[in-house]
Amino acid sequence: MSERFAFTIDATDGAARTGSIAMRRGTIRTPAFMPVGTAATVKAMKPETVRKTGADIILGNTYHLMLRPGAERVARLGGLHQFMNWDRPILTDSGGYQVMSLSDLRKLTEKGVEFRSHIDGSKHMLTPERSMEIQRLLGSDIVMAFDECPRADRPRDEIAASMEMSMRWAKRSRDGFDGGGDHAERSALFGIQQGALDEDLRQISAEKLTEIGFDGYAIGGLAVGEGQEAMFATLDFAPRQLPQDRPRYLMGVGKPDDLVGAVERGVDMFDCVLPSRSGRNGQAFTWNGPINLRNARFAEDQEPLDSRCACDTCGTYTRAYLHHLIKSQEILGAMLMTEHNIAFYQQLMQTMRDAIAEGRFAAFAAQFRSEYLG
Ligand SMILES: [Zn+2]
Repeated sequence: MSERFAFTIDATDGAARTGSIAMRRGTIRTPAFMPVGTAATVKAMKPETVRKTGADIILGNTYHLMLRPGAERVARLGGLHQFMNWDRPILTDSGGYQVMSLSDLRKLTEKGVEFRSHIDGSKHMLTPERSMEIQRLLGSDIVMAFDECPRADRPRDEIAASMEMSMRWAKRSRDGFDGGGDHAERSALFGIQQGALDEDLRQISAEKLTEIGFDGYAIGGLAVGEGQEAMFATLDFAPRQLPQDRPRYLMGVGKPDDLVGAVERGVDMFDCVLPSRSGRNGQAFTWNGPINLRNARFAEDQEPLDSRCACDTCGTYTRAYLHHLIKSQEILGAMLMTEHNIAFYQQLMQTMRDAIAEGRFAAFAAQFRSEYLG
């Protein structure tokens, strides 16, 4: 019988840490980047290709899956892992953030959020209890507490009231998760710290979450338009407000330079649509910064996207060919570009894990920035 959830820190370097999370479906090396599989697919990628890039875990979206194909249907079909052919860990978000950003006619109350589907206008109610039920039906390995994420530029009293409600929802999430029978014995539950950019509110949030008790702690409410400088300023205090011996997950981040700066400040886990979405739009991430393959200067460029990248796209195809595929809106262009970007992110994480283990993270970060930001 393998472990439900065991986080081990193997090495630290400054605030940066590297280690692993052992779970029933596999081990997650940290710092970890989770490709986003919104609608039970990492867009344009087969699960086996996602795995081949080095991803130990992917993220699924509760909001999308509850609307289509529906959580009860996924459960009848054997759960999300079997449905999409991914046998390693899956983290599901709570649906809270996406209800607020995607749906129509939202009504937010203490009970939860009532909304209309952006797909067909049908009416739904998402509460902490229902979010826990949906994530259980999906068969999630890491379940996220249901929270509300206000914009960081709202007045402080609104941010405070929202955070307080999210903490009450965190307790209801904990109770709902614990009442989930077998699933609760096989999976993990993460709480989400809120409080926008305010150190005191984040401290209160961290204390309330720690009192409830979670397997890991997410830093929510960042990467919502505040900019990198404000995000880093918040990450100068937010990670150390959370328990030292639990993984810290920065939600929805980010660009490669965001990841390096956040790992430097003690973050262990990330997710972001950026590598996959950018890939479909013709943007490739490289060690020398992002490049846009639509640009005519790549039309006869026989080099790979990145000469240091070990992915199949870089081992096989030229920038000229990718330029042509993207200009022609060929599906293969999106597939090859996404594969490279996800692989690049995984290579970045591996490089950071190695640098922390070898006690040279500061030197790595300085070299990365000089090459990447040029
Ligand atoms: Zn590549």
